[in-house]
Amino acid sequence: MRAAILRKPAPFRENPLSIEEVPMPVPGVGEALLKVLACGVCRTDLHITAGELPQKSKDLIPGHQIVAEVVQSPSSAFPSGMRVGVSWMGGVDGTCSYCRADRENLCDDPTYTGYSRNGGFAEYATARVDFLLPLPHGLSDVAVAPLLCAGIIGFRSLRVAEVRRGQSVGLFGFGSSAQLMIKVLQEWDCRVYVSTRDATHQKRAREFGAEWVGEATDRPPVDLDAAITFAPSGDVVLAALGSVAKGGIVAINAIHLDRMPQFDYDKLLWGERQLRSVANMTRKDGRDFLKVAEEIHLSPSVETFRLEQINQAMLAILDDRTSGSAVVLPSAMLCADSDVRNGNPAGAKPGKEQA
Ligand SMILES: [Zn+2]
Ligand SMILES: [Zn+2]
Repeated sequence: MRAAILRKPAPFRENPLSIEEVPMPVPGVGEALLKVLACGVCRTDLHITAGELPQKSKDLIPGHQIVAEVVQSPSSAFPSGMRVGVSWMGGVDGTCSYCRADRENLCDDPTYTGYSRNGGFAEYATARVDFLLPLPHGLSDVAVAPLLCAGIIGFRSLRVAEVRRGQSVGLFGFGSSAQLMIKVLQEWDCRVYVSTRDATHQKRAREFGAEWVGEATDRPPVDLDAAITFAPSGDVVLAALGSVAKGGIVAINAIHLDRMPQFDYDKLLWGERQLRSVANMTRKDGRDFLKVAEEIHLSPSVETFRLEQINQAMLAILDDRTSGSAVVLPSAMLCADSDVRNGNPAGAKPGKEQA
């Protein structure tokens, strides 16, 4: 099969992922063999590929927002032919104190898809069958892929920030995850304020009906009840903290921050403001969010790429050049050439698809 392999972490401009012919993966005990239909690209893939996260696996196939068809499975709950999702959480030990307390996102000995085990930037993948997510029927492969990390972890961020119906909520950064969450927040009658550096993202936030749009570290015109930061920047975290009202919660939805600047406790944290990180996800987050996504017909804006274009897809995310989410289609080679122009699969509009 063909796969995008990370032999050695390197900056993107050096095209760190190489497309290679590799042996088919063999599922282990309790695992399913999957044919990858689509795989979303996430900012975490960038951090892994560039070596900003410690290396966990040599010769890695990244990618952790996998939409796949089951080829071979040990479980009748996930029979062959079924469409399933695989997220960042590849598995947990099930025995540590966190797992036993229903906090598997904090497991002491987890495996991560596309990080500590091979992921979905390939034609086939394997996954633990108890970590497969059933997918809503109403959403296409391309539409559901970005929901599996950007969506689920974004949704967990809303929970971590304890967002309630009708509140004023700040989104700091407006990439894939934030663009999904604004729809959920609007469904909950929240007023959404967006701070982001990128002009395209600012425009998009206005189109999406944000109450107010500003620069990356701009303070919204009202005191926020809660804020979620998506940018991997400590300065942005402090801007968010400076924007919440007393008792407000800032949830950091970023696995990696450039740095955490010193800050003034009296000004920024006093008044029972809280700063929280968002770590991974639980299977329940996944199931709950996919249910919400189906109910509100969440349809992300998606730009599609062939497997050969994976480095381009990564670079587009790094440079904020995708207007929504980037999704790789490992089987796109199978389509007629005329259907796969400009990195788009059959049926997609040139450049972007409102999936
Ligand atoms: Zn991710
Ligand atoms: Zn555990």
